[in-house]
Amino acid sequence: MTYDFGIIGAGAAGLFASYYLKSRGAKVAIFERSKSFPSGASSAAGAFISPMMGKPNPIKNTLNRAFKHSIDLYKENLPSTFLQSGILKIDKSEEDMDKNITLLKYCEDIKIKRVENLAGMNIKNSPYGGYLFCEAGVVEVEKVANMLVEGCDLFLGTSGTFEKKSGTFEIEGKKVDKLIIATGIDTDLIDEEYLKIRPIWGERIEISADNLPEISISKDVSISANRAGKAAIGATHLRWKREGVASKESVEYLIKSAQEIYDLKNIEVVKTFCGARAGSSDYLPIVGKIVDGFKTLDRFPMLKNGTKIDSSRFIYKENIYIFNGLGARGFVYAPYCAKLLSDFLVEGKDIEKGLDTTRLFSRWAKRGEKNPSTF
Ligand SMILES: Cc1cc2nc3c(=O)[nH]c(=O)nc-3n(C[C@H](O)[C@H](O)[C@H](O)COP(=O)(O)OP(=O)(O)OC[C@H]3O[C@@H](n4cnc5c(N)ncnc54)[C@H](O)[C@@H]3O)c2cc1C
Repeated sequence: MTYDFGIIGAGAAGLFASYYLKSRGAKVAIFERSKSFPSGASSAAGAFISPMMGKPNPIKNTLNRAFKHSIDLYKENLPSTFLQSGILKIDKSEEDMDKNITLLKYCEDIKIKRVENLAGMNIKNSPYGGYLFCEAGVVEVEKVANMLVEGCDLFLGTSGTFEKKSGTFEIEGKKVDKLIIATGIDTDLIDEEYLKIRPIWGERIEISADNLPEISISKDVSISANRAGKAAIGATHLRWKREGVASKESVEYLIKSAQEIYDLKNIEVVKTFCGARAGSSDYLPIVGKIVDGFKTLDRFPMLKNGTKIDSSRFIYKENIYIFNGLGARGFVYAPYCAKLLSDFLVEGKDIEKGLDTTRLFSRWAKRGEKNPSTF
């Protein structure tokens, strides 16, 4: 049997890609290096699904489009995994409050309520009020992962190393027609300098407490709403690597920061998590065909001088695609970007220019970064 698609990496990117491709009748196999699932950043995520306030810019616009798409998908197709608690974002200072009030006029695309007075909500040290993102919520990662993987073959403990043999790819004896590389911070399988991924490590904890909030709350850290007596508190942002569990100092920091926001009583830490967010150089996801950097530069050396060439003339890797760069918002971006990827793979629809690999390649080609053979 030959699979239509082989997806390497069973994080949010790989799982949502498989979900959309399967729903269109494709045979999908997922190859995951870890023996457990989900792993990677996805296992660590607090999985808050919230929009972004701000003036229009590519990141905010894309994120809020993704937010709307994702909320609809979670609510309609994966409702048991999604707690639409609303997220209350608290202003940290007078300056923060003034800035956010001026930003409200740019936020007509999302449902936001200004909350002037937080007294009576058990919220502490917050005289400046905040904003309730009414449609926002939290996803239950393990549950959603198990639902997304239904109907496709998941091979755990497989390295994802592939060979091309007479038109198809082979991974540990399984044949696939097309490959999607969704490996988060590990980009060894794609040999392209312009596709740099920056890891930002993060930790979060799951707690129980006597009085968990009924809405999710975000200030220096985020506390999720009560879900069957438990809540997530996240997250740290670290440049250095930690494996598996959060450090003692980070657990203390998360609890202390949460208690500064909300009067939590009798907290017990149930579990700690650690993972690395995979960020692209412009903080936007990377989805779709992969420009073959060196071959394209050999054919169009004028790209180094900034000459514009229509990207349809670039040379692309054959039948290999990327889905990465989801950063700190993977559970918001992944459903939307996976839909775009499946529209492209199944129907040939173009992927938004701001998300495909051509933007990163073109910038890299112009800068002439570390490319001794051609520069
Ligand atoms: C502490 C923390 C809190 C977060 N909170 C939120 C949040 O509240 N909301 C939100 O939307 N996002 C959040 N995120 C971000 C979100 O988790 C990520 O954006 C998302 O999980 C990335 O998914 P991914 O599939 O790209 O990468 P990953 O989840 O890292 O998945 C990549 C997978 O590929 C596998 N892999 C790598 N190399 C190979 C190989 N060669 N062969 C086979 N398999 C391989 C890895 O083992 C891994 O399972 C958070 C992240 C962290 C770390």
